[in-house]
Amino acid sequence: MTKSITPGKIKQTNRELIYRYIYKKRKTSQQDISYTLHLSRPTVTSKLAELEEEGLIRRAGQFDSEFVGRKAVAYTVTEDYRVSVGVEILRREVKIIVMNLYGEKIGREVLPLAFRQDESYYRSVCNEILAFLAQLGIPTEKVLGMGIAVQGLVSPDGRTITYGKILQCTGLTIDAFASGLPFPCQFMHDAGGAALSELWLSPDLQDMVYLSLSRHLGAAMVCGRRILTGQHGHTATVEHMMMRKDGDPCYCGRRGCMETLCSLKALLGDEPIESFFDRLERGSGSDVDKRWQTYLDHLAEAINMLHLLYDSVFVLGGYLAPYLTQADIDGIYDRIDAMTPFDEPRDFIRISLMPKHNIAIGAALPYLEAFLKNI
Ligand SMILES: [Zn+2]
Repeated sequence: MTKSITPGKIKQTNRELIYRYIYKKRKTSQQDISYTLHLSRPTVTSKLAELEEEGLIRRAGQFDSEFVGRKAVAYTVTEDYRVSVGVEILRREVKIIVMNLYGEKIGREVLPLAFRQDESYYRSVCNEILAFLAQLGIPTEKVLGMGIAVQGLVSPDGRTITYGKILQCTGLTIDAFASGLPFPCQFMHDAGGAALSELWLSPDLQDMVYLSLSRHLGAAMVCGRRILTGQHGHTATVEHMMMRKDGDPCYCGRRGCMETLCSLKALLGDEPIESFFDRLERGSGSDVDKRWQTYLDHLAEAINMLHLLYDSVFVLGGYLAPYLTQADIDGIYDRIDAMTPFDEPRDFIRISLMPKHNIAIGAALPYLEAFLKNI
């Protein structure tokens, strides 16, 4: 049996259709909307008036028309009708980004606040965020919500950190921050945030393994554009897959985890990444080249193993992404060729499209997506 559509529902649908069309086109006219969406002029006129009155759309100049004396009004969505906040909490600093409805940056700030699990820290973070919004001239009623990305596992409802060994924050609940802010908040696993940023920029990407190659290794598995969390919330915690029985110690307390071979800490030790790649480029010292080749060996081994488990696109992101070249990717394919039983086409490894600020941006995206879905 088909569900009946009420007149109210049709009106709502037209409103959604029109808003989404303007959002997608960025700037359009009443005539264009009417023609493209096959809606009558009076319907479009009344919906535009409604959306404009609510402040969801605004007039943005005029289009030239072929009819002398009749210029069409240009409509655009009000980009900052609502905003979303993304925060990345790290050991030594807090990164904040405020984004408009297009996921574009309105403002970004890095606070030198070292993580502590106490009231004064939470209060400082909240006060700094409120001060930053005020500085940007954004009233808090406009904030859809705030995502807080952490280096740890998060419960499926985004309320609790279920495993936070890096920051020593296991068990921390969102109330620590939410009680000091007048808008909704949720935690997000940092690699999940990075994966969401990648999906935002790649509307056609359905399935993916995202590898966050930063000081620590992280990963997210995406199926049908959804991040897989799993029964206990630890799907894709590849960093603790054991690759060497008596390998180097991992922060989890075990040895030889993928973290100890494929993280930037494993590659760089305490050397800054710029210095390492500068030395690599200048060919100064065989130790640098040897370290890089060994790292690529380990990365290829890890990707091959994960690719046998999940045959999807692999996106290489994190702080390493801007330094990766096509020659490196070809080198990884060469290594995989020697390991895999299949004749793999060289089409599944990509470098991240958004290597910078992606974690904080990704943390903010669910609020934008929910708003746009329920307009
Ligand atoms: Zn481990």
